Order: sequence, then structure tokens, then C-alpha cells
Amino acid sequence: MIKRILFVVLALVVILIGTVLFNTFRFSSRQAVVTSLVAPETSDEALTHFTDALHFKTISYGDTSRLDSSQFLGFHRFLEKTYPLVHQKLKKEVLLKYALLYRWEGKNPELNPIVLMAHQDVVPIEEGTEKIWTVDPFAGVVKDQFIWGRGTVDDKINLISIMEAAEKLLKENFQPERTIYFSFGHDEEMGGKGAQAAAALLKSRGVQADLVLDEGGIISLEKVPGMTRPVALMGTSEKGYLSLELSVEKQGGHSSMPEKETAIDILTRAIVKLREKPFEPNFSPSTQGFIEYLGPEMNFLQKMAFANTWLFKPMVIGIYEKSAPGNAMIRTTLVPTIINAGVKDNVVPTIAVATINLRLLPGDSSSVIIEKIEQTINDDRVHIDMARSFLSEPSSVTDNESYAYKKIDVIAKRVYKDIAGSPFLMIGGSDSRYFDQVSKGIIKFSPMIDPIGFHGIDERVSLQSYQTSLWFFEQLMRDTH
Ligand SMILES: [Zn+2]
Repeated sequence: MIKRILFVVLALVVILIGTVLFNTFRFSSRQAVVTSLVAPETSDEALTHFTDALHFKTISYGDTSRLDSSQFLGFHRFLEKTYPLVHQKLKKEVLLKYALLYRWEGKNPELNPIVLMAHQDVVPIEEGTEKIWTVDPFAGVVKDQFIWGRGTVDDKINLISIMEAAEKLLKENFQPERTIYFSFGHDEEMGGKGAQAAAALLKSRGVQADLVLDEGGIISLEKVPGMTRPVALMGTSEKGYLSLELSVEKQGGHSSMPEKETAIDILTRAIVKLREKPFEPNFSPSTQGFIEYLGPEMNFLQKMAFANTWLFKPMVIGIYEKSAPGNAMIRTTLVPTIINAGVKDNVVPTIAVATINLRLLPGDSSSVIIEKIEQTINDDRVHIDMARSFLSEPSSVTDNESYAYKKIDVIAKRVYKDIAGSPFLMIGGSDSRYFDQVSKGIIKFSPMIDPIGFHGIDERVSLQSYQTSLWFFEQLMRDTH
């Protein structure tokens, strides 16, 4: 009897190992093979144009009344002066005073257009941190093989690269195959009303684009665990954004005779409950794509894990959960960001209010998530004020077989040697979320290599990133077939 049980167990183990190995060896590469082309040296002129663009303090403050129109209008004049052919040959429209929309007529009206996006605005320099910067953030300094300054990474490199590439091609009298739009919003860091207006205008004109390209993933040399090759991380979806205000109202009074439970107690208990019960982990379609496209390129153990998610999924999730960025890839996250109650040390407050910020995984709609929040809190005294909420649902997901994905994958491989391309879920938000109704082919990707200091101190991109970025947009414009 024991022998028979042992035999069955052994047979099962053999079958299991066999299946795991079979899946691993069958997990073959999905990478398109593309010959890369060496990028030309960046001209001094192109470099100066980029550093000049950094001088404009096109800052998005939280408070819209602080917007400095002279900086934005100055930036527009700078673009007109620096890119004369673009302004002669393309049709330009200004939306909401500052957002720019250009249209470059293509040769073939049968083909749907493409849209290249970037934003003009930058985040402010956090007060008190100016001194920590190695350089003046708006001076446009080139030093140690890097271009330094606020807006280098986010997102003037894309805007200037697009303009440079177009001006260069116009000098050759080049006309693209497809019509190309450039959409440069002015307030991406403040919600993106400019991009929203551009998307609405294009939609009203019946434009359906086969590709919309906006900032997002990057070329990463070493940041993807298990990969020894550079990876082009191409965002095929982005998480949603939801801020909710929770409030509790309960008679306060003198702190010398406190009630058993106060508004602060009730509110903080609700927050602790929410934090202790994370949302279910899940591989959204973009993360599933990441596994399928990069798994076969990884070292054996990782390849085996990714080839057999039916078995190793809990283990993979366990690894992802350990780091904050990894955790954000696999689930809807929730964190309190503002908490307010009380005015005086000896008064028990009557009202306690907290804001929680959530980032919704594609597939997790806000209504389902809010319902789960209410279930978890399970306390009628905690009120969610929907009128004071802010919501942007998760984006749709671009197909890995789409023209958009394949085109960006091929161009990335053409401009940077030995790249593996992969879909990827973008954690942050971008202006392109407004283009869901204009295109089913939205890709969030900036062709730069491991930028540094995004939204922070000493923001900078390498000279090689700029060279690659210029080359990328030129190749893309040349090849919109
Ligand atoms: Zn940005």
C-alpha cells in the first residue's frame, strides 16, 4: 500500500517537473528581430535648442492662479523662432490659451493619423531644495555627459526631440506617409485640461488615430530584474486615480472628560482597517504582457517562474509585494495623504477629515473599489463625500498585436542596440488617458535611457538619451506606413 502511494506521489512529482520544464522550454521569444542603425552625433544647435527650452519656467503650480503666462507665451515664441519650417508648413492651433496642437499633412489620406504627445509644463522646485541642486534648475547646464534641469526628463526632452526631428525632415522637403499631430498640453502636472481639449477637438472632427505616443516607460539598462539586456518598457495602460474624502462628525468637548470614542478615533480606525486589508493582487493585461514578452529573455530560473505562472503566481506576487513599486504593479493601492482634525490641545474636535489616494489597477473600476472600501470600514459614522472626490478611471489597454505597439517596438529596436521590448503597466498618470476615445493604440513610452531625478532634485538626462530620442522621433516620422 505504502509502496503504491509512494509510486503515485513520485509519478505526480515527475509529471509536475516535466510540465514545468516543458512550459519553460516552450516559452519562446516574442521579440521582433530588427537591425539597429547608429544614431548620428547630436549637433551643437540641437543641444542648444534643448538647453534654451529649459530656461522657460513653464511651471504648473497646484494653484492655477499662479500660472505665469509670460513663461508659456515666451516658450511659444521660442518654438516659432527655433522651428520656422514647422511653423510654416504645419497647421497650428492654440487651445485654452497655452496648449498647442500641430497638424502635419500626410501623403496618404487613406491611412489613419498618428499623434505624438508631450507637455510643456514642469513641476515646481520644492521650496528650500534649490540649494540642494548641483546646478541652477533653469539654467540648462550640460555637465558630466548629462543635460541638467527641471523639465529635462519630464517632459521637454520629448517635446524638443519631436520639434527637432520635424524641422530636420522639413528641411529635406520630407512629407510623412500618415498625417501626424503634435499635441503639447500645458498643464499635465495639474490634471491635463489642455490635452483633454485637444482630444475632444480631434474627436469632434472624427479623427481616429492608429497610434498615440506619450511619455511613460523608458529604456532601462539594468532596472528590470532578471534581464541583462536593455529593455524598452512601453506602457500599454495606466492606472486610474481616485482621491476620496472620509469624514467623521461626533460631538466633541473638553479633553479633561473624554468620551470613550472620538471623531479622531473612529476615523483613524477606519484608515488602519483599510491599510491592513490591501486589495486583491492581480496581473493586469499589461503586466501579463510583461511576463510573456520578457520572461523568455530572462535567466533560467526567472524564465521558469514566468513560464509557469499557473504554479508560481503566488511566489511571483510575493516577490513583487516586497517593494513599493512592485506592489503598485500588481494591485490597486490606497494611502492616506491628508488628515485634519482639532484646533486646540484641550478641545476634542467634532469633525475629523482624511483624504485617501488610490491608484486603480486596470479592471478595478471605481464603483467596485468604493464598495469594497465601505465594506472594509463597516462603520456608518464614516462618511465618504463623493462631491469632494477626484476620479480618473483606469485607462483601456492597448493590444500587443496592434499597429501602435508593433511600430514603437520596431522603432525602439532600430534606434538602440539589442533592446528587448515589453508591454508594461504605467503607475503614474499621463495626458494620453484623455485620448482613449481618439485611439485604441495608445503607447506610453519616452525613448530615453534611465533618466535621473524625475520630479526631484538634480533632474537630468544623459546626452546619449537626447541623441537616442532625436533619432527615435526621426525614424518614427520617416516610417509611419
Ligand atoms: Zn510628465
